[in-house]
Amino acid sequence: METIQTLTKTFEFSEYISILELSYILASVLFILGLKKLSHPDTARSGNLWAAAGMGLAIVFTILFHKTKLEDGTYQGIHNIGWIVGALIIGTVVGWLAARKVKMTAMPQMVSIFNGMGGACAALISMMEFPRMQNELAGHQATTMLNGEALAILLGLMIGGVSFAGSMVAFGKLDERIGDVKSPVLRYINLSFLFILLGFVVFIMFKSPVAGENWMIYTLAGLALVYGVTFVLPIGGADMPVVISLLNSFTGVAAAMGGFLYSNQAMLTGGILVGSSGTILTMLMCKAMNRSLLNVIIGAFGGSSAAGPATGDKTVKEISLSDAAVLLSYSQKVLVVPGYGLAVAQAQHLCHELENLLASKGVELKYGIHPVAGRMPGHMNVLLAEADVAYEKLQEMEDANNEMNNTDVVIVVGANDVVNPAAEDDASSPIYGMPVIKVWEAKNTIIMKRSMAKGYAAIENNLFFMPKSRMLFGDAKATLQKLVSEIKNL
Ligand code: NDP
Repeated sequence: METIQTLTKTFEFSEYISILELSYILASVLFILGLKKLSHPDTARSGNLWAAAGMGLAIVFTILFHKTKLEDGTYQGIHNIGWIVGALIIGTVVGWLAARKVKMTAMPQMVSIFNGMGGACAALISMMEFPRMQNELAGHQATTMLNGEALAILLGLMIGGVSFAGSMVAFGKLDERIGDVKSPVLRYINLSFLFILLGFVVFIMFKSPVAGENWMIYTLAGLALVYGVTFVLPIGGADMPVVISLLNSFTGVAAAMGGFLYSNQAMLTGGILVGSSGTILTMLMCKAMNRSLLNVIIGAFGGSSAAGPATGDKTVKEISLSDAAVLLSYSQKVLVVPGYGLAVAQAQHLCHELENLLASKGVELKYGIHPVAGRMPGHMNVLLAEADVAYEKLQEMEDANNEMNNTDVVIVVGANDVVNPAAEDDASSPIYGMPVIKVWEAKNTIIMKRSMAKGYAAIENNLFFMPKSRMLFGDAKATLQKLVSEIKNL
């Protein structure tokens, strides 16, 4: 009778476990489908929701169905439900409020903070699991730490710690709270640091410290944090989005270590997806800037603070609002090239209004999108999608360049580095070799910006002095507003 009861119980709990595993598979499928949907602006919003639903499902089912097998063969559910639910509520409220309040221009900073939190979580998991391994050694359930479990714990701590500290510095730099530290010495220190960290992981595994010998894990945590700071400090401010993407992939790998540790498929798949997509994004951004990842890491490209006005005796030509309105109204093909300034001014809705207005006059307006325009990948796509600009109106850089000779007017709205001819003709320029939108090949180029200030790479732009270029100074939103009124009054 007792055996039957035990069997029934085991069966019951096995069922729980299989329900849990099924939920993890479903969560993984939702992550993958969500990620797929993120690749197109029309479906990106729902893709985000799908992936979030997958995460929600994994969390709820873990709380409800996770059971630990005890020594006496019975199963035990999750403890501390109050703490877990409390933390979930606090996290949800903080995340919700932050996401609602954040300005589009501060989005990279927020991504950086959230990514850092992911790294910190992975590191904390390792900090909690390491003493368990030590206890197993003390209780003789294990004899050594030379195994995959210990490696997953230590790498989770190391990578998570680097990701947390690095993301915090990246946040500080993007928010212009921390300046660039351009020291060649730091590069060598960093390289040595990396070897020390990896060596220390191997040392801990060989040493297999028993309970009480906690200094090793704390030292590893400390070293990882210091390395995270020194790794990001010398990297140029303009390269922060690339670094964040790289740190994002680190966080994914650290989370995947947790997945290995707990044999948790959802955590493993989620971590691997974040790790691999972060790596692909990093490589794509490097390709768009025509620079190697090593060059990004040691190149110190760009400054984190606004640069001063351009110097020299070159003169620029301005265009009046009424002339710009006439020029646009009697054109056939117009191309808007948006940049970071569009995000600052929040001028995307007015761009769309201009597009509709010109369309009513038979003028075709498209948008030329540079892959690294703005401060994060897809920055311009997100802004224009928010203003209901049709996706078909967006042209990739290559297509825009191919049609440039036939374009009557290009309006550069708050872009600078991504339209800088130095990338093509000045071998001494830090952006030399970066693909750019060749707006100077169009018949007319109108540049909307507030002053002669430089862009994020802090270099002068000869475009402003070229024969076909005309400056239309002012805040992009205010200028576009006036331009739209002017065209309406024609
Ligand atoms: P830039 O930072 O080069 O230039 C932006 C321009 O916008 C400035 O010259 C500024 O001039 C102008 N501006 C700012 N505010 C306003 C406003 N309210 N109204 C009108 N104009 C304004 O931007 P780009 O988009 O051209 O280039 C992006 C830079 O970021 C590149 O260097 C790129 O490599 C880098 N980067 C981007 C990444 C990404 O993922 N997107 C990744 C890595 C790097 P003024 O102050 O005179 O108005």
